[in-house]
Order: sequence, then C-alpha cells, then structure tokens
Amino acid sequence: MVKAKYWEYSSKFVGEPKLSNFKLVEEDLRELKDEEFLAEAIFLSVDPYQQVYMNFYNFPTGIVMIGGQVAKVIDSKNEQFPTGCTIYGMFGWRTHTVVNLIMHTEYPPYILPDFGSTLPASLGLGLLGMPGNTAYFGFLEICRPKPDETVVISGAAGAVGSTVGQIAKIKGCRVIGIAGSDEKCKWLIDELGFDGAINYKTADIDAELKSKAPNGVDCYFDNVGGKISSIVLQNMNLFGRISVCGSISNYNNLHPDSVPEPLPEQQTTILFKQLTQQGFVVYRWKEQWLEGINQLLEWVKDGKIKYRETIYEGFEKQPEAFIGMLRGENIGKAIVKI
Ligand code: NDP
Repeated sequence: MVKAKYWEYSSKFVGEPKLSNFKLVEEDLRELKDEEFLAEAIFLSVDPYQQVYMNFYNFPTGIVMIGGQVAKVIDSKNEQFPTGCTIYGMFGWRTHTVVNLIMHTEYPPYILPDFGSTLPASLGLGLLGMPGNTAYFGFLEICRPKPDETVVISGAAGAVGSTVGQIAKIKGCRVIGIAGSDEKCKWLIDELGFDGAINYKTADIDAELKSKAPNGVDCYFDNVGGKISSIVLQNMNLFGRISVCGSISNYNNLHPDSVPEPLPEQQTTILFKQLTQQGFVVYRWKEQWLEGINQLLEWVKDGKIKYRETIYEGFEKQPEAFIGMLRGENIGKAIVKI
C-alpha cells in the first residue's frame, strides 16, 4: 500500500498566507482501478493563483491545496499514461495521487514533451509550462508588439515576467523591467538582455521610466496592478496596449464579499490615450498549448531564452516556498523539489 502526504488548506487566508493556514496530512492510497494510474510527484509548483483562487472563489477549508506538479507515473492501468512516463498534472500539493481522468476534465494531465537531455523536467512547471505559455500568448496575442517599440513589464524577474521580457527582445523591442531588488534588476540586464530595469522598492518609478523610456511606453505587460501600474499607464503612448496578466499587489486584500474599489482616475488616461487594456486567463489558449511550449523549447535550445529557478528542497517546505514566492524571495520560477 502506498502512503501519500498532502498539504491541506486548513484555515482561510486572511491577508498574507501564513504557515498556520496549512496542515500536513498522511493517508493510505487505495489500489488502482481500471483506467487509473498512480503519479509520484517530482517537482511541485507554487504560484500566485493558488492564493487568488482560494480567496476569490471562496474555496472551502479542509481540501487539498490546489496546484500543478511534474510527476512520474509509477503504476498504471491506463494505456495513455504508461508506467515510467513523466507528466504534468493539476493534482494539488500531494506526493502521490491515484489519477482517474474523469476527475480531471477541466485541466487534464499530459505527458511532457521531450525537453532533450540537458533541460530539467521542472521546466514543465515554469518556462515550458503554464507560466511560459502565459508569457507567450498573453504578451504576443494581447500586446501585439512591433520592432523598436518600448515594452514595460512589472513583476519582471518572476517566472512569467522574465519570459515576457526575453520574448520582447526576440521581437526586436526595447524592454524595461520593474522588479523588487537590485539583484533582480542586475539579472534582468546582465543575463537576460533587458535594456533597463527599475527597483520599485527604492526608485522613483516615474522619473526612472521617463529616463529609460524617453519615447514613451507602447506595450505594458502588467503582473502586479496597483500603484506601479498607475505610473506606467501615465507614461503610455497613444494607442498603447496593456496585457493585464496579474495584480499581485492586491492579492492579500481579495475577498469574495469585499466591496470593489471605485475605478481609478486612470480611466481618463485610457480614454484620451486611446489605450487597449485586456485581461486574460492563459487557459484561453488551451487548444494551442503545445504550440507555445514547443516554440519556447526551440528558443531555449537556441540560447535565445534563458531561465532561472529558485528551488526549495523537500515536500515539507511547500508552504514556506509559497509564502516566500509571494514575498518576492524567488528569482525566476519558484519550485519545490520532492
Ligand atoms: P512570480 O514568479 O513573478 O512570483 C511572484 C512575484 O511577485 C514575486 O517574486 C515578487 O517579486 C512579486 N510581488 C509580490 N508582491 C508584490 C507587490 N506587492 N508588488 C509588486 N510585485 C510583487 O510569479 P508568476 O510569474 O507565476 O506570476 C506573475 C503574475 O502573473 C502574478 O500576478 C500571477 O497571478 C499572474 N499570472 C496570471 C496568469 C493568467 O492566466 N492571467 C497565469 C500565471 C500567472 P518582486 O521581488 O519583484 O516584488
């Protein structure tokens, strides 16, 4: 009999998630039935949406924390997922899972494409997974960048933002990133080839933007919302495009029954600059999922896109990794290695 561990969402998030919101539970897994398979997690993902969904959709306590993982199939009664294959699945914060595909119709598991011998399978949670596709489709389809345009990205040193910036460079744009430390800014410029970077915790963002983007901003990939985004909007050019990917600066305040804030003064800026602002959820492009992954894979193999991971060791570290990522401890994708 296989013993599994999982992290339970045991009390509601109030403001910033805390270690006390989670409980480690052990269980004995039952035998496989026909068409089922057993997945053993290798890498678990921590992502900002795991906070948002719990609050925004008012998920009940007592459930397994939601999340994606890269796993190995270690036993199988399903021909599509034979023993030994490496997969991505939305099985939650669990070490082992009995998978019945009927329970996973919304986000079905899939066998990872062959990343080649030099790239780690953990990329299936980052650059070559959901965050990579968020960058690829969310930027190209909504911002529709043209060569020589100026692109600004907030949350620039994270999983999504660092990929957006490199795609923008491939497309011939001038790229400015906004991130939360000097170390992150240095990485963006020295390693990833950004043209400029602004530490939003110490800099005068408006003054820095005016000097680093003297011709104004054509595309804004918004991961954070709030004050940073208000300042970027003021610096946009006529007919600029804004891809609203996330609003992490607001996630600690989200509540299903909270009264929405009035729409900000930036409405007038959007009107007179004739900006296009569009939100998206990456699964809009689920039919093209492998197209995005394969393009990113080609770019990383050609050395046109670099990646970095912040890896936390051990299943017990999952809540710490999650809280650390939300606080900005990570450079690139935050991952837990089992
Ligand atoms: P990251 O790897 O970027 O990690 C989160 C980062 O957010 C932290 O490292 C931190 O970096 C930054 N951050 C935390 N608090 C604040 C704050 N108050 N103001 C500004 N920055 C803050 O995560 P992802 O790349 O996975 O996600 C980035 C964004 O994209 C999130 O908003 C997420 O919800 C969104 N997203 C949206 C998807 C969609 O389909 N629309 C899909 C996937 C992600 P720093 O040190 O710079 O503060």
